[in-house]
Amino acid sequence: MAQSILVTGASRGIGAAIAFELAGRGHRIAVHAGRDSQAAEDVRAVLPGAGHAVVVGDVGDPQACRHIVEGAVHALGSVDVLVNNAGIFEAHPIDAVSFDEWQQAWRRTLDANLLGPANLAWLLARHLIERPAGPAGGRLVSVGSRGAYRGEPATPAYGASKAALHAMTQSLAVALAPHGVLAAAVAPGFVETDMGRSVLDGPDGDAVRAQSPFNRVTTPEEVAQTVAWLATDAPLWVSGTVVDVNGASYLR
Ligand code: NAP
Repeated sequence: MAQSILVTGASRGIGAAIAFELAGRGHRIAVHAGRDSQAAEDVRAVLPGAGHAVVVGDVGDPQACRHIVEGAVHALGSVDVLVNNAGIFEAHPIDAVSFDEWQQAWRRTLDANLLGPANLAWLLARHLIERPAGPAGGRLVSVGSRGAYRGEPATPAYGASKAALHAMTQSLAVALAPHGVLAAAVAPGFVETDMGRSVLDGPDGDAVRAQSPFNRVTTPEEVAQTVAWLATDAPLWVSGTVVDVNGASYLR
């Protein structure tokens, strides 16, 4: 059955690939962007199928989160699935930044990568539980990171935010099960996107590719196919899982 799905950070990169994959499977998508509404509109325009929408807002702002979910519900009629994909990856090496820069990086990163997804999850949960049709299940899928396990020496707030996102997913899988809601996450290694390119195009690029025995990094489509499975087709019994999408570059 066609689902209505809000994908955050879908104006480019992994989120755009997720939107494309889900639309190709017959679902209606609210394509979210942080600021670049034109980029989100460009993605919406090329999605397969019809009835897709665009919503914009900073997930680090709780009021904007409310507008994002309300906007998606208004445009799609309801939201069955939230894909928490938007995120930032900003370098703040502990031995190179000032105390002020350190604090700003932690705040910005936790706001965007953890508090935003937490607030959106609350808003989605309320919508699913209280929507007029009555509780009919739903799904919450979050894009975490391999960095939660392997460490992020130059972006420690990022690694911490993703570890917390995985932990939140597991807690919400338990808390939302009585409402028939699945919660799961994916943990990709480096992916070929604007975010990934900041490292992949640099002097460490070849070493990063060599971390996988396939000698390459993840494609956005590989993450998108995994997210799409969790968001729509996967059995309810995978709730609480964090799926590695890292080409065997890190085994845990
Ligand atoms: P990307 O190419 O940098 O795209 C980021 C997306 O998130 C954009 O749509 C951006 O919208 C949106 N966004 C960023 N900050 C936002 C904010 N504060 N509020 C609302 N939207 C915001 O990133 P990506 O590589 O596709 O990454 C997507 C997700 O995968 C992230 O959660 C990332 O941590 C995770 N991930 C990425 C990699 C990798 O190597 N690329 C690896 C593991 C996990 P605007 O442009 O309009 O701001």
